[in-house]
Amino acid sequence: MFAEVVESAGFGQIIPPMFEDLGVFLRLGEATDIVTKEMYDFEDKGGRRVALRPEMTAGVVRAFVQHRPLLPWKAWYAGPNFRYEKAQQGRYRQFDQVGVEVLGVDDPHLDAEVISLAWDFYGRLGLRQVRLVVNSLGEPQDRSRYVDALRVYFSQDLAALSPESRQTLERNPLRVLDSKREQDAPLVAAAPVISDFYSADAAEHFARVLAGLDHLAIPYEVRPSLVRGLDYYRKTTFEFIGAALESSQNAVGGGGRYDGLVEDLGGPSTPGIGFALGVDRTLLECDAEGVFGAPANPVSVFVVDVTGGAEALTLTHDLRAAGIASDRAYEGRSMKSQMKAADRSGATFAIIIGGDELASGAVTVRPLAGQVGDDRTQSTIPRTELIPMLKRVLPS
Ligand code: AMP
Repeated sequence: MFAEVVESAGFGQIIPPMFEDLGVFLRLGEATDIVTKEMYDFEDKGGRRVALRPEMTAGVVRAFVQHRPLLPWKAWYAGPNFRYEKAQQGRYRQFDQVGVEVLGVDDPHLDAEVISLAWDFYGRLGLRQVRLVVNSLGEPQDRSRYVDALRVYFSQDLAALSPESRQTLERNPLRVLDSKREQDAPLVAAAPVISDFYSADAAEHFARVLAGLDHLAIPYEVRPSLVRGLDYYRKTTFEFIGAALESSQNAVGGGGRYDGLVEDLGGPSTPGIGFALGVDRTLLECDAEGVFGAPANPVSVFVVDVTGGAEALTLTHDLRAAGIASDRAYEGRSMKSQMKAADRSGATFAIIIGGDELASGAVTVRPLAGQVGDDRTQSTIPRTELIPMLKRVLPS
């Protein structure tokens, strides 16, 4: 479904490598926890320092720099990442993401479009409680003036900060704003806000992104403390917050602009924006919101063979060869047990083969509950007519 949403917006798939030279990820920034604390890096047999990817943007941008596709370049991806984390619900050492990156466009409309793709994807999944929070980190110089101001502000009252935040302050003052510790709350609440540091360009860009979201009727909250974990973000940043998870891991997805990253990886100055959505957390959110009641990949038909199973073996094979998704039960179960399995499968029809059908070269086609309106009338037809009939009535 993700592929459908993003491919309808002109994105092509890229499959970045699962591991890269360590240097590719180190460019994500020394103040980034993912790089300093959470990377699975090791030496290979040839003495090269490599790392399992902790996220995909760096690999995508590395590929961009190496292959220089035409601009604008719109790419989407899906796959696992690895971070050395304290594993808990919604936080794993291997987790999946789907995401997009667009390189070569600085238009605020694109920021709104990219956000809308993630928003529409959540909507298509049936999620109704995911909230969007947005912020802008300004241009690099705005951001660094702000970081200086934060350093000065927090340093004035070091004793009031938690020991953990004091350490964070040394590495990355922005991340102190992320602290969930009660002790830090009053200082964080009264901290300087980034919007006071925006250049005219950054302020205008952000205003136009918000106007774009308004045009698309996407509700959002501007949260000045949203800094996100990666160092490379500039201007627009955003996060999608789920209702189901604890606050320390309730972000189901997030992204932003990274206008300096291509240069950092050795390419020409190129604007970039993207997001990554956490598949594991999105599924937890789906569970919590009770979406996905039906099997994710229901087959079209379920073959119920009470003559020993050999007919089911050949019939499912023929059906699949004709492009009709089909499944069956095994181990010579009873009719009742096979019909239960057929109901659970989400199939539209059960194809029943009993002794009579076998003798006369026929099959009985029974519509399953909730699939074809209320009409549950079954019919027995010659086996040779089954596939043409199914092709006529099943949605293609
Ligand atoms: P990030 O790359 O840190 O911006 O993360 C983007 C999304 O990936 C987050 O919003 C989460 O949904 C998901 N994510 C990040 N780290 C983990 C993890 N360790 N376990 C599960 N999901 C994660």
